[in-house]
Amino acid sequence: MAYCNRCDRYFSSDDALWQHERMSSRHWICHDCGKDFPSERGLTQHYVQSPRHHYCQRCDSHFDTPYDLQDHYVSDHWYCSLCNKIFDSKLGLQEHNRQSHWYCATCGRSFASENNLMQHKRTHLPKTVQCPGRNCTRAFASHADLVLHWESGTCPSGVTRQLVNDTAAKNDRYRLITDARRLIQGPDGGYTPRGSVTTWATQASWNGSAYECVLCHCTYPKLARLNEHLQSPVHDERMYKCPTALEGCAAQFRTLSAVVQHIESGKCGVRKFQRQIQGVMDDLTSSMHRLTC
Ligand SMILES: [Zn+2]
Ligand SMILES: [Zn+2]
Ligand SMILES: [Zn+2]
Ligand SMILES: [Zn+2]
Ligand SMILES: [Zn+2]
Ligand SMILES: [Zn+2]
Ligand SMILES: [Zn+2]
Ligand SMILES: [Zn+2]
Repeated sequence: MAYCNRCDRYFSSDDALWQHERMSSRHWICHDCGKDFPSERGLTQHYVQSPRHHYCQRCDSHFDTPYDLQDHYVSDHWYCSLCNKIFDSKLGLQEHNRQSHWYCATCGRSFASENNLMQHKRTHLPKTVQCPGRNCTRAFASHADLVLHWESGTCPSGVTRQLVNDTAAKNDRYRLITDARRLIQGPDGGYTPRGSVTTWATQASWNGSAYECVLCHCTYPKLARLNEHLQSPVHDERMYKCPTALEGCAAQFRTLSAVVQHIESGKCGVRKFQRQIQGVMDDLTSSMHRLTC
């Protein structure tokens, strides 16, 4: 005799019990996991929650891998991948994006932060700012992107962050964006940045448990990461300021690209300086051209 606990019934054989479990509306069985649920809802919940199943509840269908399920969501449903949520209509998804995400209407993509969205939106702008560097054919959507390209050291002309800072200190005669107090004035009256330290760390930076920066004492598990840190602008003087500093914007920057981005974002209403700033950028651009030719 075989006994079904849930139904309190006896069966003549194991086969008969098995038959009962398959047919009865009181048994909902996941054969993959060998689990028996008392309701359809219980079984569905199990499919949804168990990491073993890749199940679309809307279509009541199973997929082999989480990637197949994701593909299905993307191609057959209105799906938000940031929230892993499905919506009934395109409109529903768009509304969700507008309410919960930073959303680019141009290409319909969502971003996790305002910053990411702003960065992304720049990719939609026409690329009209040509790099003046020797052997360089790249163009950018903004001056900030052009300067970032210089500072990253990837321009084939060989421009470096140091050269950018030197040139900015020399060219910004009216101290619109550079802070004279953080520059060194030479005997000829010209300004240069305080020598920014470009050191390379060696095995000597090992402090027994990690590689330690001599300047700020932050630590890294790998020497290469410490050297990346040392080459980055983190220890540079904040030699750049917002052009509206006199009117109260206290923002200071370590890199030219950061101040240019601040200006181009329009946050401080620096538009009235537009002409002067354009002048500084033009001077810089032609200096870069001269220096690298
Ligand atoms: Zn039963
Ligand atoms: Zn299961
Ligand atoms: Zn589905
Ligand atoms: Zn979402
Ligand atoms: Zn977009
Ligand atoms: Zn370039
Ligand atoms: Zn450091
Ligand atoms: Zn500002």
